[in-house]
Formats: sequence, C-alpha cells, structure tokens
Amino acid sequence: MGYWTDGGRNAGVLGLGLSGRAAAALLKSRGFSVTGLDDRSDIEPCADCDRIITGDRIINNLESLDGLVISPGVSPESEVPSRASEMGLPVIGEIELAFRHTEIPVIAVTGSNGKTTTVEWLGYTLRRAGVKACVAGNMGYPFSTAVLKNQDAEFFVLEVSSYQLQTIEIFRPFAAAILNITPDHLQRHGDIENYRNTKAGIFMNQHDTDVLVLNRDDPGSVPLAGRTMGLEWYFGIGKSVRDGAFIEGNSLFLASSGAERFVLDTRKISLPGAHNIANALAVVCLAKKAGLQTGEMIEGLTTFQGVPHRIESVRNINGVEFVNDSKSTNPDSLIVALESFSNPIILIAGGQAKKADYSELGPLIRDRVKALILIGVAAAELDEAWADFTDVFVEGVMEKAVGRATILADEGDVVLLSPGCASFDQYRNFEERGEHFRDLVEGLE
Ligand code: ADP
Repeated sequence: MGYWTDGGRNAGVLGLGLSGRAAAALLKSRGFSVTGLDDRSDIEPCADCDRIITGDRIINNLESLDGLVISPGVSPESEVPSRASEMGLPVIGEIELAFRHTEIPVIAVTGSNGKTTTVEWLGYTLRRAGVKACVAGNMGYPFSTAVLKNQDAEFFVLEVSSYQLQTIEIFRPFAAAILNITPDHLQRHGDIENYRNTKAGIFMNQHDTDVLVLNRDDPGSVPLAGRTMGLEWYFGIGKSVRDGAFIEGNSLFLASSGAERFVLDTRKISLPGAHNIANALAVVCLAKKAGLQTGEMIEGLTTFQGVPHRIESVRNINGVEFVNDSKSTNPDSLIVALESFSNPIILIAGGQAKKADYSELGPLIRDRVKALILIGVAAAELDEAWADFTDVFVEGVMEKAVGRATILADEGDVVLLSPGCASFDQYRNFEERGEHFRDLVEGLE
C-alpha cells in the first residue's frame, strides 16, 4: 500500500513523546530507517531511532527523508510539516501510520469530553463478554504500540483527539462516535467550524455499512448530521431516536429502524452523573455494532468501576464517601462533578487556575457544597470568587485539606477532590495529585 508499508526507506518522526516513540518502533519493525526529530535537544535516547536531529537543524535536514510522521502534539501547519509537504514528502499522523499496518477492525471515539471514560468502558464491556478488545490511542497506550504488541486483538478501541484527526488519510473506523463538541481547543483549530470539521475526519472514509454515532442533545455535534457515507445512529436523553440508544424516564432503550428494546434501568449504571449516562449510551451503540447481546451490555454497564481520577470512588468511611476527580482541571469538569451527586459535598478545589470566570460557579456551589477547602496557588482567587456562596477553609496543601474534610464530614456527605484547576503548582500532573489524595484517604483510621 505504498510508501508507508513498503519499508526500507528513511522516515522521519517529528516529536519524540510517547506516540512519536511508538511510531518509531513500528516503523523500525517494518524495516524503515528512522530519524527522530524533536525541537528539544535534551530529549531521552530513542532506542528505535537510527539517528536523531534536534532544534534548528531539523529544517535543513529534511532532504535526507522520504516521509514524515508527526506526533499528535505537533500542528500539521507548523513550520517543519509545512516545509516537508512543500518538498513533496508524504506527511501523516501517528494513528494513520498505525492504521496502515493493521487489518484488525477499529472502533474510534472522539469528542471534547468523556473520551477516555467511554473507550475504557467499551473495552471493559467487550472483554467481559469474552471479546478480545484492546483499548489504545490518546489515553496513554499509543495505537502504534497496540498494532505491534496486540496482534491477537479482535478489535482496537481507539480514543482519538482532534489533533490526531488533522492528519489522517485512509483511517477508517467501522464504528465511530463523536460524544460532544464544545468550544474547547480553539487555540489550535481557530474557530468552532474548523474544530467541528476536524472531528468530521473520524468518519470521512466510512463505507455504507459503517456506523457513525452522534449525540442528538449536543448542539455542537448536530451540524455533522447527514455527512457520513455510513449509517447514522444517535443517542439522546428524554426522547426516542430511530436508530441508536436513548433514555426515557429511568429506562435505557436500544432502537433499530424505530423498533425499541428495553435494556436496563439507568439507576443500575455503575458510574454516577448525567454525563456518564451519555457515555453509557455511546457505549451501548458501539457495543451493538461490535455484535454484543443486550445481556452482555448490561454486565458492562452495571459493573464498570470507572477510570482512575475521574469521579473515582476511593473509600467509604462511616457513611462518608471519598471521591477522587483529580482529572478535573477546569471549571467545566468541576461543574460536571458537582452535578453528579445529590448528597452534600465537601469540596477540595484549587491548584493553578485556568483563564476562566470561576465566579460563574457561585450558584451551583451554594446549592451543592456544604464546605469548600482550598489548596494551591489559586486559593486566594477562588476564595474571592466563592466565599459568598459557602463556608471556605484555605488549607494550602492536600494533607491539611483531607484532615479538614474528615473533621467537617457527617454521615451521608461526599468528600470530593475536584480541583477545577491544573496541578502543576504542586504536582507533576493530575495523576500524581489524585494518587496523593487516594493515599491520604486510604491511610485514614
Ligand atoms: P477526555 O478523555 O475526553 O478528557 P474523560 O473521560 O477523561 O474525558 O473525562 C474527563 C472529565 O470530563 C470527567 O471527569 C468529567 O468531568 C467530564 N466528562 C466526562 N464525560 C463527559 C460527557 N459525556 N460530557 C461532559 N463532560 C464529561
């Protein structure tokens, strides 16, 4: 299938992060000579690169290459890929490369929010039903690695970011879902129309028997209707759909050409919150396309324990539920978390604030948050934004915050870490922050 599968030539890999290194390993295993390219000169050694070129030297060394793979973190419009295209080199992204090296069918999920939860949930549901499903992509296990190491998989379930969709050519998932499109990531994509069109890449190569799953309730996604060559299924809450899945009252139904089949009572779904009902609907649609029976779907929907750091239940101590939502790094995620619980919340928030108007959350905080405990450098800003709406305790660090929470909590309360802020003032990343919280909670008497 042309240059990218013939091997034996010189391919460049631009950006030597996790995905770039995975692409290098895949190319190397297929007989390419691999040149690693990275802006930074202090990168770690790359075992699968025959040579490495860094910094300003990259642009002057493109003639030695006959193809370029770019990492998801690199804009295709930036200087090096643009110059490579002008020179006539084929330029593709990492998922496109991996796709060209596998025959295993691909299910792909994109969207502004909920991608990791949905792919992990679907992967879990398929595996529990005895199907060999391998979850890969943006969630930390590159598609190229999966193609190299998981050749016995029956399906790849891929989390795809809009960055990765900018550089596809023949990538074709037989089942694809777009969960939602909110005005996020606009810096890179210019405006919402561009952003939406980038997401459309997920279905641009679909054939007539393939399926695109869209969120009927999401105004950002609806303009994509009618654009796939494949079948179009919808999920939605509150009103039936012709093909797909929907919720009415507390019942989840599957629909096929207008015929409806009850699947389960939504109160049995194992993850909390309305956002997870939407994710569950996407899981059901994709699982159906993958061939699962209703009973197998129910198993997955009622037993999945969630992805770490996303509204993750850590422990219940004397009727107080401790929940880790460290992935909440902006006000939108904090809103989603607060709306997920009906019990009184003792909220631990703060860190490094995003450029956003935190005061908009005031009314929701008044409704849901019994006490607010602040950590990190944003404490003063958040105190000012929210002090009128609930009792505030500025504790600075996680140890003191958890200590304060245990003093304040009564039976039936939820102690929720949902910072609404980045973690970099005190931690390396949100995972480290969540693990710190979890360790402290697990250590409580
Ligand atoms: P992603 O991989 O797209 O970043 P995650 O599954 O990691 O998404 O979830 C991150 C956060 O996004 C969750 O903690 C929750 O706050 C929010 N979220 C999850 N699913 C949805 C959804 N369907 N709609 C809106 N927000 C969601």
